[in-house]
This record gives sequence, structure tokens and C-alpha cells, in this order.
Amino acid sequence: MNEHKISEKHPRATSLRIRTKLVRGFESGVTSSFGLFAHGRGEAFDYLIGETTTENARVAIRAAAASLLLAKNPVVSVNGNLAALVPKELVKLARVSGAKLEINLYHRSREREEAIARVLREAGAKEIYGIDTAFQETIPEIYSDRRVVDHRGLFVADFAFVPLEDGDRTEGLVKLGKDVVTVDLNPLSRTAQMAKITIVDNIVRTMPLLISVTKELKKEPETTLTEIVTAFDNQENLSKAIQLINERLENLAKREKLEYMRGKT
Ligand code: ATP
Ligand code: MG
Repeated sequence: MNEHKISEKHPRATSLRIRTKLVRGFESGVTSSFGLFAHGRGEAFDYLIGETTTENARVAIRAAAASLLLAKNPVVSVNGNLAALVPKELVKLARVSGAKLEINLYHRSREREEAIARVLREAGAKEIYGIDTAFQETIPEIYSDRRVVDHRGLFVADFAFVPLEDGDRTEGLVKLGKDVVTVDLNPLSRTAQMAKITIVDNIVRTMPLLISVTKELKKEPETTLTEIVTAFDNQENLSKAIQLINERLENLAKREKLEYMRGKT
């Protein structure tokens, strides 16, 4: 697959470029085959929200940045899709906020962990958690391979940024009392529904915004950050995301009907 062959004029050029990154990630052992399917599910929802960062995603980004800055021990969790799509941005967010970077895979393998660690190091990461077996800890609240976390990272974290996450793990982390923040294009997923803050947006659009809002909010006092977090209601925000999809579809359906009728006359 050659990125240069994607024409700028192609209506889905951006989407195709993202796919190319994931295919490359898959070929280099960073992304799992299941990760490719997960992306497909996300893409479908991106289509429905209009492939743009919505106003309510921006509200969630602000709440996520404030919550991240308030955390005492934040962790940014990295999986194969994230390493293929936004490695530099993850490293930057961790640096700006003082969060730890931890690799946590749903389909674990030593090779994939190492491939992801390599990508993160190339992106500028100095310290990477989650790969040193000496610090492995098992969380009984999680029923998958992802129950293994780093004793110095997610195990003791008060805040977990877990974009593109599986529902079982999110539930486990929420049960452990951590502030879970996610990025998930599907407002109906279990992760989206269970997290404290859900940014319904494509990770590639969210990350640069999240970094710049975090930088901006760093200048604000704790009281302002607390106000932002308290004012945010995830259920309300998710309802708005679903409503937006609903309205878009209704409008598109009407337009299609009109065009169909026009064709008849
Ligand atoms: P859940 O387990 O939370 O119910 P799921 O089983 O439907 O979700 P998973 O594969 O476990 O899906 O989780 C991956 C999630 O990441 C999906 O909800 C998918 O929509 C979302 N996703 C995939 N690619 C992206 C992306 N580029 N940006 C944002 N979200 C994405
Ligand atoms: Mg799942």
C-alpha cells in the first residue's frame, strides 16, 4: 500500500491515509489483526458524526484536559492502534501533563510490546511502563489479558487515559476507582458509556487538540480546573452525540428523498 497513491481529490483521502498507517502498523507487528477490525467499527461511526470534531467533543476534550491536570498520578495507556496512529502525540501529552506512558495490550505478545515500545522511543519517549515483567501486577477486576498492569503505572494511578479501549477493561478500571477518560467514536460502546469522560471523536483529530488545551489549562488555578470537571456530565454529553447522529441522518434522509423526487420529475 503506497500513501503517495492516495489522491488529494479522493473524497475519503484522510480516511485512506489513516488506514495506510494502520496497515503499516500491522505489517510491522505494532497493530494486531483485531485492531484493524476495531478501527473499522470506529470509522463507521466517524462517517455518522460527519468526520469532524463536534462541539460536544470539544467540551469533553476540555474536561479531559482539566481532569488530567488535576490528577496526582496520571497514566496514558497505549495499544497497537494508538502506536500506529498517534505515537508522537501520546508522548507529547504525557510530557505536557507529567503522565506515565504504559503499554497495555488486549492481544498481548512480547513481540508486539517490544514493537510498540520501539515506536514510542522513536517518538521521543524516555520511560515506558507495562513491559518489564518484574513490575507486573494482576487486577482481578479485569477478565482478559489486560488484567496485567504495571505496579508503578496503572496499578497505582488515580487517572487513566485509555483511548480505543475495550469495555471489560474500562469496567475494571472504573471499579478500581480510577478516573477513566477515553476517546471512542462509538457513543454506544460499553467503554464510552462507563468512562468518566468520553471524547466522541477520531483519535487523530483529538490528540493535537487535547495537547493544546492541556497546555492552555496548565496556566489556570486548580479551582478553575475543578469547576470544568464538575460541570461536565458524561451521560448528557453522550446523549448529545447520539442526538447529533440522529439529526444528521434525518437531514440526510430528507435530502436523499428530495433528490430522488427531483430525479422523477
Ligand atoms: P466495548 O468493548 O467498549 O463495548 P467494542 O467491543 O465495540 O467496544 P472494541 O474493539 O473493544 O469495541 O474497542 C475499540 C473502540 O475504539 C470501538 O468502540 C471503536 O469504535 C473505537 N475506535 C476505533 N478506532 C478509533 C479511532 N480512530 N478513533 C476513535 N475511536 C476509535
Ligand atoms: Mg470490546
